[in-house]
Amino acid sequence: MSSIDDVNKSKMNENFSEINKNKLSLPLLGVSACLLGKEVRFDGGHKKNSFILSSLSSYINFESVCPEMEAGFGMPRPAMQLRQRGEEVRLVFSKNPENDVTDQLINYSSSKVNKLEHLDGFIFKKDSPSCGAFRVPLVIHEEGFKNRQGVGLFAKTFIDQYPLIPVEDEGRLNDAAICENFFERVYAYRRWKKISNANENVKGLIDFHARHKLMLMARGSHFYQELGRLVAGTTTKDLFQKREKYILRFMQIMKITTHRGRQVNVLQHIMGYLKQAISSEDKQELLSVFEAYRQRQLPLITPVTLLRHHLRVHPQNYISEQHYLEPFPEQLALRSAL
Ligand code: SF4
Repeated sequence: MSSIDDVNKSKMNENFSEINKNKLSLPLLGVSACLLGKEVRFDGGHKKNSFILSSLSSYINFESVCPEMEAGFGMPRPAMQLRQRGEEVRLVFSKNPENDVTDQLINYSSSKVNKLEHLDGFIFKKDSPSCGAFRVPLVIHEEGFKNRQGVGLFAKTFIDQYPLIPVEDEGRLNDAAICENFFERVYAYRRWKKISNANENVKGLIDFHARHKLMLMARGSHFYQELGRLVAGTTTKDLFQKREKYILRFMQIMKITTHRGRQVNVLQHIMGYLKQAISSEDKQELLSVFEAYRQRQLPLITPVTLLRHHLRVHPQNYISEQHYLEPFPEQLALRSAL
């Protein structure tokens, strides 16, 4: 007969394997190691990011990378900066710019990035001459004048090699619209990889396009039509070429951050599928919630939740197949900003 301990143990094992199974199915993001609290900065410190570690860590897996440590610069090490030299951008020590370490970091980056194809996205440390993905300080004059047109050398190598993989920097994730957009792209890219890994056929491409219709319309209905023309008439002969073109353009379009007017158009479009099923009071309520969202009195999650409630009561196949109402897990608590 099994003891209570045995039963508890076996329950714990079940729970652990359930958690591990769930963890395995989560997106995997590359993250600059210092953002995960690792003490790898030039001065031995870290730049722990609580949003990444607290809000995301239950729903996202991370793979940490510190290019400067892994390239062999050691720690502590001199602070570095990007410097424009003629046509080239070089990585140098900030206090002794004659120490040029560009080749060491580029050599490491080229070989490391080759091993990162499996990632679903990357969150980079802002402003870093190695990791920064946007608007990194770039010294353009011997006296130290800077602009913000630099891109960290490791981040640039990654972005150039994987134009489809979504990237953001931790600073920009403080902006709710940018953050939502990033995770929409991460999950859309993951869905794409799933169908690419499966036995892909023309139907898979058409299906992917159809299920993202409302997400594309939230960026502009012409984008849905543009990609529709690309998909139309695809045969098994030109499937590979069409797919490559499709996903490149799809991911470019997905980078566009949508605005409230466009979102309201999509919400009204969804409500159209319910018009025979719900009462006029319910319709009025939906319309006033849409308007309050448009006026920035409510976050997007409010009309979305209300629509989901009506759709649970009155299911509509076409809408339930769309990714728009749940582009990422609800628990990420995005779409909640005013
Ligand atoms: S910004 Fe990048 S290179 Fe610098 S410490 Fe963080 S992970 Fe390492």
